[in-house]
Amino acid sequence: MKKALLIVDVQNDFCEGGALPVPGGVEIVPLLNRYIDCFLTAEEGIILSRDWHPRDSFHFKGYGGQWPVHCVQGSWGARFHPKLVIPPTAIVVSTGMERIHEGYSVFEGVDPEGRSFKEILHREDIGRLWVGGLATEYCVRESVLDALRHGFDVELLLDATRGLDPQDTSSAIDEMQAAGARVRTLDRS
Ligand code: ZN
Repeated sequence: MKKALLIVDVQNDFCEGGALPVPGGVEIVPLLNRYIDCFLTAEEGIILSRDWHPRDSFHFKGYGGQWPVHCVQGSWGARFHPKLVIPPTAIVVSTGMERIHEGYSVFEGVDPEGRSFKEILHREDIGRLWVGGLATEYCVRESVLDALRHGFDVELLLDATRGLDPQDTSSAIDEMQAAGARVRTLDRS
């Protein structure tokens, strides 16, 4: 079984200057680039998820949801952070593309060919995921818990993830560990 790097939602809107900024979101970009380098060198898979909403998503305030408008398909805010060095071989999985879908978990997403995240992992024979990105207590948490439920081995990259709220972030990390995720940092790998 191979392993893959999963980078969750490192998009302009979730970084400083965006519509729904996660404190310290930009700080993780150089670290994620180092993880990307490691995975490229080892010829292991790199998968990036992105929040990719229609303008009138039910997930937004004004349409019944709890969030300001963010990551609208094709907008600046939906682009990956410009300092993230994305290799051409990386697979991009988009989530929350239907009005009714919030798309917190990457398991709800599809690649440009319409393949689900789970299908991609099976096709590439990936059984282990190293997960970093934004935000810890939302999309990272949901993706990690889903991965564990589906039987994948998960390592949470503690130095390369950030949350919106410190208390909720800390609870989410405990919950992911209780569910079976291990934690690691770049210098402890
Ligand atoms: Zn969203």
